[in-house]
Amino acid sequence: MGHAIVPGSFDPVTFGHLDIIQRASTIFDRVTVAVVANRAKAPLFSIEERTEMLREVCSDLGNVAIGSFEGLLVEYARECGATVIVRGLRAVSDFEYELQMAHMNRHLSPDVETVFMMTGTEHSYLSSSIVKEIARLGGSVEGLVPKSVRERLRQKVAQ
Ligand code: ADP
Repeated sequence: MGHAIVPGSFDPVTFGHLDIIQRASTIFDRVTVAVVANRAKAPLFSIEERTEMLREVCSDLGNVAIGSFEGLLVEYARECGATVIVRGLRAVSDFEYELQMAHMNRHLSPDVETVFMMTGTEHSYLSSSIVKEIARLGGSVEGLVPKSVRERLRQKVAQ
């Protein structure tokens, strides 16, 4: 089914993201997970750290590559040769923003299709921001992010 791109901030990657990436990897021949360098949000982890964490947790997925980009997503998709954008949907609250992005990306590049995947029920409450908040407040993020990410979060909030 071609080459799909899974874009996001991944600050840091959670089990919710991993669920979408794993499922996309069974549907598409190739998947590129693309870390967005978005200056508007102040990230906890650098682009390099976010990319590294994704490489670690996706290492067993043979058809998944990790990249990062600045600028327009559709341009990056074109550079990679990807024709599908995969986004995860958790709740209705995600929908309006995602709809706007999908319409705008189609306007910019009609040959790139956006596909939505419903989150696994057990991940529907999960976001990178809530994970960071819990870690900052000293709570356990076990079951929310992979072990290697847990370790990095611990180091980061201790700094
Ligand atoms: P962005 O800042 O672009 O929304 P995120 O890293 O928050 O980046 O999310 C990347 C993608 O993963 C988005 O499509 C988002 O909807 C999806 N996603 C985030 N958390 C979850 C989750 N718990 N379950 C499923 N999809 C998720």
